[in-house]
Amino acid sequence: MVMTSLTGPQVARADAKDPINLTELRKEAQVATKGIEDATRALEARRKKFDDSQRKLSEKLAELEVADEELAKVRGPLSDLVEFMYQDPTQNDLGQFLLSGDAQGTLRSMSDVSHLVAGRNHVVDDAAKLFAKQQKLAEEAQELRARSLLEEAELDAEIDSLRQRSTKVIKQLTQALTKLGVKVNQGGRGASACDPTRVAQAAQYPNGLLPKTILCPLPETGEELRADAAIAFADLNIAYRKRFGVPICVSDSYRSLAEQQRVYYTRPGLAAIPGRSNHGLGMAVDLCGGVEHFRSIQFNWLEANSKRFGFIHPDWSYHSPFEPWHWEYDPAVGSLL
Ligand SMILES: [Zn+2]
Repeated sequence: MVMTSLTGPQVARADAKDPINLTELRKEAQVATKGIEDATRALEARRKKFDDSQRKLSEKLAELEVADEELAKVRGPLSDLVEFMYQDPTQNDLGQFLLSGDAQGTLRSMSDVSHLVAGRNHVVDDAAKLFAKQQKLAEEAQELRARSLLEEAELDAEIDSLRQRSTKVIKQLTQALTKLGVKVNQGGRGASACDPTRVAQAAQYPNGLLPKTILCPLPETGEELRADAAIAFADLNIAYRKRFGVPICVSDSYRSLAEQQRVYYTRPGLAAIPGRSNHGLGMAVDLCGGVEHFRSIQFNWLEANSKRFGFIHPDWSYHSPFEPWHWEYDPAVGSLL
């Protein structure tokens, strides 16, 4: 049931060969983190289910115990009474009662005795059935507990291996980014720095209000993008530097809502309406160092190569408004890499 869903892509990925570039690493880290979260959720759900069935079973066992106690109460006096009647009838009052009186009365009394004996046997039978049922339930409970413990141990081991994989990938990614001068929140700890595994949560934040954990710094001081875009940009930058010997010049990147408003009011008509810009999603960069000139070598190189890294020059930026410097990360293009 739950186990089968966990032998899916996460586990397969754990055996996959090491990723080759930053974007690949980031995706691996994201998959690993999601794997841990999914497995942890599955574990919690299973524990809850186990607790529920355990509670039901113990309720049943308690009910059975009560029934058994009641039966024992009845069984005792009944059995005593019948035994008492089978003793020498002349030695007790009931015997006297049985022997005296008319034949009809005696026969009625004898039939009462048979009835009592039958009743006793019935009660003993019921008690035996109840006991068997109780035993069966107790066995079931034990089996359930054992199976659950085994599954939990397996799931724990799985989470462990996922965690190890995640730690390894995040370490690789962190080291690679650190080498490039990008400060990363190591292993997702702490709440104030870039965490490349949290991209999936970005969609829940409004334009211009992305938290620091989802933004990663670019090599250019003060510039930042959403984690996936920033890491893809780092890959793009490596290729660019190989070609031109210098890093890509960045003049603008993520803009908070406040910054968007400031730009909008100082350049009305030129900047996007606050809350609508892809800069506010941490997906857009404005570039310099030659790229800003349409059909420059740098522009042409980017136009030809950026898609390999998930970056595009959107259609509108060719004419309306004409912004050769504006480039965007497209997660759909990025996810095909
Ligand atoms: Zn722009």
